Amino acid sequence: MNPELPAFDFQPEPYTGLGKEEVLRLRQQHVSPGVFHYYKEPLMIVQGRGQYLFDEKGRRYLDAFGGIVTVSVGHCHPKVVAALNAQNEKLQHTTTIYLNPAIAEYASALSAKLPGDLSVCYFTNSGSEANDLAMLMARLTTGNWDMIALRNCYHGGSQSTMGLTSHHTWKFNVPHSFGVHHAVAPDLYRGRWTGEDSGPLYAGEIIDVIAYATPGKVAGFIAESVQGVGGAVVFPEGYLRSAYQIVRAAGGVCIADEVQTGFGRTGSHYWGFETQGVVPDIVTMAKGIGNGFPLAAVVTTPAIAKTLAERIHFNTYGGNPMASVQGKAVLEVIEEEGLQANAAQRGAQLLAGFAKLQEKYSVIGQVRGLGLMLGVELVKDRETKEPAKEACLQVFERCRTLGVLLGKGGLHGNVLRIKPPMCITSEDADFLLAVLDEALASA
Ligand code: PMP
Repeated sequence: MNPELPAFDFQPEPYTGLGKEEVLRLRQQHVSPGVFHYYKEPLMIVQGRGQYLFDEKGRRYLDAFGGIVTVSVGHCHPKVVAALNAQNEKLQHTTTIYLNPAIAEYASALSAKLPGDLSVCYFTNSGSEANDLAMLMARLTTGNWDMIALRNCYHGGSQSTMGLTSHHTWKFNVPHSFGVHHAVAPDLYRGRWTGEDSGPLYAGEIIDVIAYATPGKVAGFIAESVQGVGGAVVFPEGYLRSAYQIVRAAGGVCIADEVQTGFGRTGSHYWGFETQGVVPDIVTMAKGIGNGFPLAAVVTTPAIAKTLAERIHFNTYGGNPMASVQGKAVLEVIEEEGLQANAAQRGAQLLAGFAKLQEKYSVIGQVRGLGLMLGVELVKDRETKEPAKEACLQVFERCRTLGVLLGKGGLHGNVLRIKPPMCITSEDADFLLAVLDEALASA
């Protein structure tokens, strides 16, 4: 018998819209072929509630990927929906050329979540825009040009952030990395050093990059606090602390990309960088910040923020009333529902379950992650660690058939990514583990 989804007292509306084949046809004809879909047989999703998604036939799935780590507090959370609906009726947009309370209240609430001097927000609509601006501010504030990013990172798909991103799969064949240098990233599974104490050794790689590839001075360093698209790669303790020291000694500022790791997802801390004991100079956020609304932010110190006033910088939608109201409601729900603590508990439960599956199935090379930012890396052979991309796809497809939607990633496409909305329950986690067990058995 296949594992059964936990009971859920909610009836989706009967779906009466376009059929799936028609949607696919129109999409193929009129939406850029650059827009891809998951699964051999594409899945159509027409409704969502909490940690669940519903297809056009009313079938329910456990959403273990949260719209790519974006749905933080749950689909259509009633409080978030109510806040947005109220704003929708009142005022949708004016831009920042007039005063409106929403952006002011939200910026102040968001700043209060950050340590130190990080108290000034600039709102954008996507993570790429946020990282693009962070890089601009780093260059303006230091007067230096060179940026250090890490191999296996993802920071965006715009022309400038594509240059930061370090995966050939996301890079187009155009000039885009001028002034960006990639240092070897810590990787305790595949990397040169595998010890828990190797943080400073990996950070030493940055010294070399600065010495060989730059004039000895840099604008900044950017890193995800856990590499997301790269396959939930967790850095060893002390890595960012050493890295930040090295970068600051070379005149650079430190940027934490919290697009995936922010807002309690790592469980133990509200921000991923806190798990490494550092305070960045600039923090970028997107995805979970808005629970699905196109909202992103750069938060920095007053001194660095000033650089953007040197000329005119403008973002039409950034921090508009709708976005601000949604963002503020998300902050409140995370607090009110203890979602960070839940991320810690459910994350620990899942990780322990993955470790058991690892004992059972030799295809699992490593299980890793923090909170609800988890990865299961599949290999053909535990000795050679040859990536098992095909097996990964099979497991991924089978999980969908059994009712669990996962993500996948890693440079070799052999890492299952488990990053559900932070409201998943213990029963959901057990269900996910049972499904994964079944899928691994059949792969
Ligand atoms: N940074 C990280 C860590 C990301 O994962 C992503 C998106 N996958 C981005 C930045 C870019 O965000 P967006 O797609 O909103 O531009």
